[in-house]
Amino acid sequence: MSRAAETSTSLLRGRILRDVWQERERQEELCRQGKFTHTAASPDLPNGYRLTALVEEVGEAAEAVLERDGYIGKPKGTDLRKELVQVAAVAVAWIEALDRTADPTPKASTS
Ligand SMILES: [Mg+2]
Repeated sequence: MSRAAETSTSLLRGRILRDVWQERERQEELCRQGKFTHTAASPDLPNGYRLTALVEEVGEAAEAVLERDGYIGKPKGTDLRKELVQVAAVAVAWIEALDRTADPTPKASTS
């Protein structure tokens, strides 16, 4: 891969990860405002609830694809990218919960 392509890929991934980070922040803000009772990162939340949130977001991404490709109903303009960012953000929240349970002190990853 050329250096320009590597840079382009790095910038793209950086922007995507920034968007996932911002979505995680949005989720926590909605929780603080009482619009959500919990996020997938909330302590003591049963994994079944976390799985439900993740699958709901995957379902919304699937709906966006099916709408876009004309398999269901009229397109409502569901934003596939936005839904995929939400999938990733819920997964990150769940990983946060797992890591906090394993070790309450976050550390920099070496791998
Ligand atoms: Mg969604």
